[in-house]
Amino acid sequence: MLVVMKNSRPCVSSERFASTYISHTSIFTIMESYRCKKCGYVYAPISGDYTQKVAANTQFENLPKTWVCPRCGAEQKEFIRSE
Ligand SMILES: [Zn+2]
Repeated sequence: MLVVMKNSRPCVSSERFASTYISHTSIFTIMESYRCKKCGYVYAPISGDYTQKVAANTQFENLPKTWVCPRCGAEQKEFIRSE
């Protein structure tokens, strides 16, 4: 019984939790918003675009080729990365 206690590492689970938390955070930081140069509409990956059936958490690069600005109809090349 005493040997088992000695071999157990109680800190492992908290370390694993910390690394999981960090990887989740980095997923959100690479989800960049893009802004339409023509009308100022901002595409936010975290919300997607329900008007064109784009699921939430879809990155701008992964949008369907047919996707256009929902406000003014501009093509994706009219969008720039938003700060
Ligand atoms: Zn637009």
